[in-house]
Order: sequence, then C-alpha cells, then structure tokens
Amino acid sequence: MAAPKTIFEKIWEAHEVVKRDDGQSLLYVDRHILHDGSFHAFGMLRDSSRTVRQPDQTFGTPDHYASTTERTLSEMTDLEAREKVELLAANANEFGIHHFGLEDIRMGIVHVIGPELGITQPGILLCCGDSHTSTHGAMGCISFGIGASEASHVLATQSIWQRKPKLMRVTVTGQLGFGVTGKDVALALIAQESAACGVGYAIEYAGPCISQLDIEGRLTLSNMTIEAGSRIGLIAPDDKTIKFLEGSEFAPKGRKWELAVEAWKDLPTEEGAEFDKEVILNGSTIAPMITWGTSPQHAIRITEPIPDPEAEPDNEKREAMKRALTYTGLEPGQLMTDVSVDRVFIGSCTNSRIQDLRLAAEVVKGQKVKVWSMISPGSGKIRQQAEAEGLDRIFTDAGFDWRHSGCSMCVGLNGDLLNKGERSASTSNRNFEGRQGPETRTHLVSPAMAAAAAVTGKFTDVRTLMERR
Ligand code: SF4
Repeated sequence: MAAPKTIFEKIWEAHEVVKRDDGQSLLYVDRHILHDGSFHAFGMLRDSSRTVRQPDQTFGTPDHYASTTERTLSEMTDLEAREKVELLAANANEFGIHHFGLEDIRMGIVHVIGPELGITQPGILLCCGDSHTSTHGAMGCISFGIGASEASHVLATQSIWQRKPKLMRVTVTGQLGFGVTGKDVALALIAQESAACGVGYAIEYAGPCISQLDIEGRLTLSNMTIEAGSRIGLIAPDDKTIKFLEGSEFAPKGRKWELAVEAWKDLPTEEGAEFDKEVILNGSTIAPMITWGTSPQHAIRITEPIPDPEAEPDNEKREAMKRALTYTGLEPGQLMTDVSVDRVFIGSCTNSRIQDLRLAAEVVKGQKVKVWSMISPGSGKIRQQAEAEGLDRIFTDAGFDWRHSGCSMCVGLNGDLLNKGERSASTSNRNFEGRQGPETRTHLVSPAMAAAAAVTGKFTDVRTLMERR
C-alpha cells in the first residue's frame, strides 16, 4: 500500500517534469501573475529573443505603482510611477497576456485578484514576482514568489527549477475567540515560533481554527507565511474554498467545474502522512495582536506589556529587541493601549478584502476618526462590492479617505507614505525600519484593530469597543 501523502507532496509530484542529480526539480507552472515591477523579466525575455510560452496562463496588473487617488493614466501626476504602469500595459499588449489595467474593474493587488478572479485554484502551481505570493496557498495550491530572472524563465518556458523544501505542519487547536482574526493567528504564530521558523520549509496550516477561518482570514494567514520565513503556506481546500471560487471568471465551468471539484476533494493531506516538523498553536489563547518593534515576531497580545529585552536569554535577540525599542520610541513594560497613533492604513494584500472591510466598518459605524485614516480596497471589484453594501459611506462619514486599489502604503512606491517620525496602525505585513517612509514607525494589526485605533486615536483593544454596543 502506498504511503499516505500530504497535499504538498501530491501537488509537487503532479508538477515535477524532471529531477536533476543536484536535487533541483523542473516544475510545470500553471499560472504566472506579473505586476508593474516586472519590467526586468520582460526585458530579459526580449534580450534573449524569446516569447511568452503560454500567454493565456499569464496575467498582469499594475499594483505596486498604481495611484490610489487617480484611476486613469492621464490623471497620474507621478510620471515615474505612470511609466511603470504604462510599461506593463505595453508588455502585456506585445506578448498577448491577460492584462487588467488601471481602468479595468478587475485591477487590484496581484494576491487579491488571483483568488478573486479564480486564476488561483486548488491543486495548481502558481508563481509571481512578489514574496507574498504565499497568499494563494490558502486556496490549496503551491504558490511562491520568484525573482526577475526566474520570471523571465517562466515566461519563456512555463516551468521553473526549484529544490523541494521540507514540510512543516502548523496545527491551530481550540477555537478562536471574539475579535480574533487570521491576522492575529499569523502574528501569534510568528511571535511564538520566530520570524525564521519556516526557513527551508513549506507550511501546511491545519486544525479546527483553520477550518473556522473564512477564506479571507486564510488568505491573510498564508500571506504572512513569508514573514515566518517560509515561501509556501498551504491550506487544504474545503467547501468554503469551493464556494468562494464558484462562478469566478477564470474558474472552470459546467462539466469541467464538476470534474475539478471532484479532483480538489482528493487533495487534502491523508491520515498518517509525515511532516519534518510539527508546530502546535493554541487558538483559544490568541487575542487581538499588535507589533511593538521592527519585526513581525515583535508581536504581543494588545493586553500585554511590551517585553523587557533584559529578560531575553539570547544575546542576538536581546540586542535586536533593544534596537527595535529605540527605533519605535517605546519602553519595556509599556502598554500599547497607552500609545497614540498618527495615521491608520487599512489595505495591502494582507488585509484589503471585502470581509476585512466589513469587519472594519462594524467598528467604525457611527464614529468619527481622531487621526488621518485611509482605506485602499484590494481590487476594483472589492471597492465596487463595498460601495454596493454602503461600506464606503460608513467610512467616509467617519472621516476616512476612501481610495482606489493598489499596494499603496504597504510599501509606498506610489507615494502613499507616512511623514517622517509618524507612527501608524497598519494592516500590512511588514513593520521593518522605514517600510512606510524614512524614520516612520509601523505597527501591524488586524483591520478591526486598525479601525479601533482610527476612532480612538490610540492603539485600542477592539473588543472593548464592540462589547459596549
Ligand atoms: S501589498 Fe505589499 S506585500 Fe502585497 S503585493 Fe503589494 S507590495 Fe507586495
């Protein structure tokens, strides 16, 4: 009898074309997504006089440089950013790939539109030139970020050389409490295990709390996998996955849909399959989380005091904690609920989906913001859906800046940045030094926690606001 297999092994084996003696495997790539920073890959393709092997499986959208205030090219005043957006459109046109331009309702952040449009499906192998490509794994596929030369190789051959990673299972036991989201699970995992715990591994998330999460929450968790050091974060598909994909533009239709669903049901890890490493996270003990330092592993429950570096036995970690506290201007023992914020950002491929906006709107409804706050929905379709539900009115009535979609203040390539010295509550994924602008201080939180900070002007346990209603 064949040994039981993990979902990762099943997908990997189905895509392995050949394995070299040095351990590298050539893998078939089902889908390739590109953004407006992918011009180097097209340049390399052109320089080698090659063309795109499977244009129909190749998708492009401008997200990194997209303006969140203007939605037509002619209105874009940042000419450097506009050039990048135009370049992607020209490359897409030249090579005949799918392109969702600035004015297309399907435009959005690569890791938001993949699942939303059904480009991302269970069982496939997907690549994109952004490290947060781990996001798509929440749909039950292998997905990982690649560099420009690898992207050029995928464009030309629809395949990629990779070394098979080891396997880690993260089982989230118990039940998630009130106000706890996928973002909190991700931060709690990284705080418990470190930002390097996944290096060299593909992670599979499992357990009752993963089943409990909606698809948006799972996408957030898989998105943050790269912040745990792993490039791949899978979640087995279930009825929620199937419902999420049904009817989406690039999902199979008719008889093909029925056959696909049948195949997807065979994907989950089989009983007894072995992992190289097992991690258990008790979901019942997770509270709304917040980062206090300059790494996602510098995360605590909102109710906890900032840890004292002197209590850290590891010399390297202790010094990193001290440097982080100096940078963020905070003290050991301080409560984050005593710290005021300058700006609030709700957006990025981590937390800009419709469910994220609904959670934030629930907190904001009937309140006024105390600090400058903005929302950038993850795609044109999400913005449209939010407007159909009246969420935009809730946000604008409260004083939020309601923007168009794009990577925006996650990385600020489009000019959406904090001012020097400012502190933000941000739903993005990285709180590294200077991530949102020179000498700025980023604190990672869930959308509900960001909304709570917006209406109180300081970091707040969102549960205290919700309980009062
Ligand atoms: S939102 Fe941030 S992490 Fe996500 S694709 Fe854009 S730049 Fe990358």
